[in-house]
Formats: sequence, C-alpha cells, structure tokens
Amino acid sequence: MKLDPQDVALCLGHDEDLAAHQGAVMPPIYQSSLFVQESFERLAQGLAAEHANFVYTRGRNPTVAELERKLARLEQGDAGIAFASGIGAIAAIFFALLSRGDHILFVNQNYGPTVKLAGSLERFGIEHDVVLDLGTDAVASALRPDTRLIWFESPGSMLNRVLDVPALAALARERGILTAIDNSWATPLLQKPLTQGIDISMHTCTKYIGGHSDVVGGVLVTREDLYERIFHEGFMQLGSTLSPHDAWLLIRGLRTLPARLEQHERGGREVAAFLAGHSRVAEVYYPDVDEPGSLAARQLRGGNGMVSLRLDGAPERLGQEVRRVIDRLRYFHTAVSWGGVESLAVAPAAKTSGGPANADAMGIPPGLIRLSVGLEPPELLIEDLDRALRGD
Ligand SMILES: *Cc1c(COP(=O)(O)O)cnc(C)c1O
Repeated sequence: MKLDPQDVALCLGHDEDLAAHQGAVMPPIYQSSLFVQESFERLAQGLAAEHANFVYTRGRNPTVAELERKLARLEQGDAGIAFASGIGAIAAIFFALLSRGDHILFVNQNYGPTVKLAGSLERFGIEHDVVLDLGTDAVASALRPDTRLIWFESPGSMLNRVLDVPALAALARERGILTAIDNSWATPLLQKPLTQGIDISMHTCTKYIGGHSDVVGGVLVTREDLYERIFHEGFMQLGSTLSPHDAWLLIRGLRTLPARLEQHERGGREVAAFLAGHSRVAEVYYPDVDEPGSLAARQLRGGNGMVSLRLDGAPERLGQEVRRVIDRLRYFHTAVSWGGVESLAVAPAAKTSGGPANADAMGIPPGLIRLSVGLEPPELLIEDLDRALRGD
C-alpha cells in the first residue's frame, strides 16, 4: 500500500484550524439543533441558502461540516454531505436526481439494499437493471435511451471485482448520463473516483471510515452544482441527518484510518495467500493489486482486509458446509457489516432462506464465504480458518 502522504496528514488532523478551537486537538462537538442569527435579515439569508450556512442541524452543523470538508478534500471534490447512514446517502441521490420514466443501470455486484431501494422506486415509475458483465461493450449495450444514472460499485464488496472506472465514466459522459460510485471498499485513501470522471462518490462510513463498529453513517462527495441539487432536493427532504456526536466519532475514525488500512491489508494478504493454497478452497477473491497493468493496480493504492473464498464441494452440500465452517470459526465473528477492528465472516448465498435465489441473480456463487479481516495477528486468523476448514 502506498498512501498519499498529504492524505495521511489530513486524516491525522493537520488540516484543522486549531486556533479556531482554542487549541483543542480534536474538533469540538457542536451539540446544538439550531444556530442563533444576528438579525432577522441574517436568518432570512441563511434560510435562503442553507447549504452554505448554519441555521438548523438537519441542514448543516459545524462538527458535521468538519467531517464533510475533510472527506471532500480526500476525494478531491468540491463538497460533501454526511448522512445518518450509507443508505441515507444513496436514497438522497436517487430522490434528488431521478424522476418518473428514468432508468438506473447498476454495474457489478452492488450492495443488496441499494438495488432493493431501486426496486421500491418502481412504484414511482423509475426502473432499473443490473449488469454483471463488466466489459465496456456489455455496459454500453445495457444502456437505454432513458438511462439517467449509472451506479457502480468498485471494488464490489462480495467478490472484490474491479471495474474499468475511467472507461465507464467516459462512456457515460459521452451519452450525457450521470454516474455515481459506491467507493466504500476503497475509502478515499485507496481510490478517488472523481479524478477518474465519476460525478458522485459515496461511502458508507459505517465500515472502514468509522472502523470500530460503533457508528452508522454515510457520505457523498461531488462537484458544486450537483452538491446544491442533492442538498436541497434529496438531503434536506429525507431527513437522514448525521448527529454531531457521530460526526465526531467519524473524525476520530479518520485519525487511524491510514494505520488501520495498512494493517488490514497486511492481514488480508496473508489470509488470501493461505486460503489460495488450501485444499478445501476452490477459489479466493482478492484484487490483483500487485499485478502490473491490472485494473486493480492502476486504480487502487492497495488492498484491504476484504477476502472472499469459495468452498470446494458438491453443489447440493455447499450451503450446509458453509454454515458448518462459519460456526466452527472462533476469531471470526458471525455478523453482517465489515471494516471494523474485529474479524467477521458471512455467507451471502446461505444467509437466509430467500438468499440463494437472490445471490444467484447477483452472480454470487454458492459456497462463498466473505471475510472481513480485522486487526488480530494474522497467524491467529490463519490457524482459526485452517481448523474450521479441516473440520476440527
Ligand atoms: C454497508 C454498506 C452500505 C450501506 O451503508 P449503511 O451505513 O449500512 O447504510 C452501502 N454500500 C456498501 C458497499 C456497504 O457495505
């Protein structure tokens, strides 16, 4: 992993105005729902441009704004909006930018609830398709005359598949279609999609950015014109407001993000290498960030702790085998989510009784186990996996 030194300095707080906060090395928490104005005239001005003023915390709040400013700088965008969850950010983008008769094209294995949310929009006359073939030609032929938004996830958080982001962004731009990417996997430290031609980069902050499994949040970063539009027509109307305290926790999360990512990558690589040589494992999914010229090497500054594996075995027994392996793990907790200090394991295809059909439609193979490698010493995790896979 080769992080940008300026990014690391920013995460550590070297961009912050200490004098404005009496030298406090952590920004204060502005735990206030409203901001008193000097005059009625100032209030009227503030209300007319809430995206640029502190009036009411459902709009802007100084602690939340500090987080937004930092993430916008990391993403090299004009401005950011923080949300109470990643899904809150996604909902605001859809709500602000789409109308009856529009079509969304999802490219890659997207986060399930994102596509489910698009399904709910069918009631309002907004349709969608999912394309799993990531080639530029395949994406081009899945576009419709009414496609208004292309939604990417790269790398995807199940199979860690990487898209050719600049090529697909150029294709969309040629056709006048807006693009958004779920950049949660990479965080702004490993990938900056706005510099590759994407219009909107969004993150769940619940995963690596928060990093301690103690806060739910989301953010989007974009350019000025889209920022104002999404702020007024999506964010302010849907009420998915991040609390000042949670914004502060996320600023604290950023403090250790560079160090955590480096350790997650170290663990992820060791676990992936171990699994690749295991007789019970048919396939390991980890981006080939070391392969010169690969998409992953060109677009990502490194890997992380996300490693998926596919168990070897007879298809009809794989569901049960996956459950057995997961139940035998001791250091990997069984839970949803990812990106925290603790290691987690989940099986997307065997998750629920309704899971396999849905997983199948999303191209998630049976026998898949998705690991989020935490900060435990990799040798403990490898021992644990070996024991669980062998059936001890
Ligand atoms: C968790 C997740 C989300 C949704 O974020 P929440 O904060 O849970 O709403 C979106 N995208 C990806 C890739 C995720 O893993």
